[in-house]
Amino acid sequence: MSKEADEYLIVNPWKVIEKDWHKDRNMVSESIFSLGNEYMGVRGCFEEGVTEETLAGSYFNGVYEVEPVENTSYKGIVQKTHFMVNAANWLYTRISADGELLEPGVSSISDFQRELDLKTGILSRSYIWNLKDGLKLKVSFIRFLNMIDPELGYQKIAISNLSEAEEQIDLKITLGVDGKAIHAGRRKCYWKELSTAASSCNTNCGISDNKATESTENVLPFRSAYILEQTKTTKQRLFSGFVYELSKDTKIDKCLTLSDDCFSGFDICLSVQKNESVEIKRKGVNIVEKNLSVSNESVVQKGISYLNKVSQSNFDNDLNEQKQYWSDFWHDSDIEIDGDEKNQQGIRFCIFQMHQTYHGYNSANNIGAKGLTGEAYNGHTFWDTETCCLPFFLFSNLKAAKNLLEYRYSTLKQAKERAIQLDCEGACYPVATLNGEEACNLWQHASLQFQPSTGVAYGIHHYVTVSGDIEFLFGHGVEMLVEISRFLVKRGSWNQDKSGFGFYGVMGPDEFHMMVNNNTYTNFMAKQTFDYTIETLNNLKKENHERFVQLVDDLNISDEELANIALCSRKMIILYDSKTKLYEQHEGYFNLPHIDVNKIPITDFPLYNNWSYDRIYRTDMIKQPDVLMFIYLHSSLFPLNVKLSNYEYYEPKTIHESSLSPSIHSILASEIGKPEEAFKFFAFATRMDLDNYNRNTKEGLHTTSIAAAWINIVYGFGGMRSDGNVLSFNPSRPKIWKKYSFRIVYKESVINVTVTEDVVIFTSSKENIPVRIYGRDYILNPCSLSIQLQK
Ligand code: BGC
Repeated sequence: MSKEADEYLIVNPWKVIEKDWHKDRNMVSESIFSLGNEYMGVRGCFEEGVTEETLAGSYFNGVYEVEPVENTSYKGIVQKTHFMVNAANWLYTRISADGELLEPGVSSISDFQRELDLKTGILSRSYIWNLKDGLKLKVSFIRFLNMIDPELGYQKIAISNLSEAEEQIDLKITLGVDGKAIHAGRRKCYWKELSTAASSCNTNCGISDNKATESTENVLPFRSAYILEQTKTTKQRLFSGFVYELSKDTKIDKCLTLSDDCFSGFDICLSVQKNESVEIKRKGVNIVEKNLSVSNESVVQKGISYLNKVSQSNFDNDLNEQKQYWSDFWHDSDIEIDGDEKNQQGIRFCIFQMHQTYHGYNSANNIGAKGLTGEAYNGHTFWDTETCCLPFFLFSNLKAAKNLLEYRYSTLKQAKERAIQLDCEGACYPVATLNGEEACNLWQHASLQFQPSTGVAYGIHHYVTVSGDIEFLFGHGVEMLVEISRFLVKRGSWNQDKSGFGFYGVMGPDEFHMMVNNNTYTNFMAKQTFDYTIETLNNLKKENHERFVQLVDDLNISDEELANIALCSRKMIILYDSKTKLYEQHEGYFNLPHIDVNKIPITDFPLYNNWSYDRIYRTDMIKQPDVLMFIYLHSSLFPLNVKLSNYEYYEPKTIHESSLSPSIHSILASEIGKPEEAFKFFAFATRMDLDNYNRNTKEGLHTTSIAAAWINIVYGFGGMRSDGNVLSFNPSRPKIWKKYSFRIVYKESVINVTVTEDVVIFTSSKENIPVRIYGRDYILNPCSLSIQLQK
């Protein structure tokens, strides 16, 4: 793999630290220092503004705009697309001292340090500002997002006069909420102001303490401001407001209320004497309202009463609660690596980002390929959710795992409409989406790739296998399975002599081969979907006849239809050569012209930018695992020698252009006994963004690959497999690690797996947990089980 690390952050097991501001990497850092809480996300940008390239990104899960796709009249090709929009900057700050505006990039600043504390979820940043008049200020910021009340975000600004001279420094601090957010890619603001307000300054500022003044629910509390705005076409509304407080005994000279187009806030004028500091604490309230029947007045009222509530709360208590939240989370979900600080930091960063992007707060939310950290991939959810992210939640937060599937259920209607657009029936899940509709405007993906649909079926299977949630399976699960199977039966075809069923004119996960016939991934995953659908219906019939009859009636399922699904599965074309033990990726793949991918000059990457589009489709070069992907997903169905043959055949042809690719290869390499190779791929996965391997971290984090880094350790080195009947482990230890351990939550028990130089130790917080270790069955109990490490 021709990828090089761009290392500039300090390695630390619990923190990501940037010492001295790397101006040229400002956008990269903005992505890396992003915060999120599933409901909203904010890039790690400077709230006081910068003159360098920046994207002051503030995103809300599921808040999007739509636009028509130009020049498409062909049936089935999407006519309109949708994308996540940049929203109000509720941290907007400007600072002037003695008339000089603070502008990092132009202003003289020194001793810069920025830190993301993964243990607590707190982002801090500070530097010395050397004023033109020779005086000096220390400026510090902290920021965090509430993980339990996700509408809330916090900012603290501290400014200290560090000058030698006795003179005071006059400050003007502007605090505001700025609704004129520009979508960086489209260079357009998608918001329209509905109203703004700020509480009056004359009476409210300059008071000498911060004791909460009595508040009434319906009146804007003191020192607060808000805007209400709406997206232009989707009419989604955002109330974004804040309330601030100053450190005790701060004397304000003047305070002006600001209210402009989509902006609301205050200019606060005060001075700081030598060795004195001023501190401002801001609590931001952001409420998204998508229901058009709720009036603007009600949204504002809700926002104002929320502001009143938070004006009474104590900033430091909220900060402590935040610390407790993350401490509880790490207790159940940490991975510890002894002897490799870089990957220790890398994996904790991945776990942190994954959890803050999604933790099952709301089943209307899903996980964008870039999370809430940037606009690339438009905030869209892909098949990545079920294939890469779901395992992390299956073993840390079952509610979140279920919610991800409930999201698919809630968009079943759109998937059925999409199937009809494609001249089929049943449900075709979109390649890329926020609202359930297909948003991918590249027809060759949107019309030819079915891994989102088979991925949903796989996700249901995986979730039910791990959780045992039969109620879900017999409820929403089976309905999705039937509709997906229906789509696949309709979209597939029989070959000419009717001896085999398969898929013609498709594109598998390897996106470098389009309009191919019988892509084995597609066929294999469809077969699994058919089998699981039939098995589930049979079980339902046995175990809950009433529901079965109801379902058959509701979905109009006939015996003929079920027999046909079973037949399509039995006759599914699977291109397998038992002599070589190779699966052929699709018909004709073995005869494609060969290209030695190692001879492609590094400067040609990314290929999409440097090769003509059609050129990448003409050889046996692969973008990401395709055959290896279904072998990984259904690991328990394939013997080791088949895994080995296919890995050795396909890996050398793969350029890993997708960030999901290395982890899957690492997991398989571990299993087939190629530890060095496994480690090489792994190191890339955990530090993909921290070291900006793909040189595109500035557009946002590779959030779904971050999940793949977690599976890389647990499924790779831990050798865990969860697709079969028993949870199994085949642990190994990368040579450079003295010891490592990971924790999973399984059957409500926290299971700790520690792999030392010679032994593997399992402990379980609950009794009677069945597992298989190196092929032997055990029952885990709270006393620890120690097993020789197999080398
Ligand atoms: C990959 C897809 C993936 C998407 C979003 C693409 O580059 O080829 O498999 O779903 O990125 O992560």
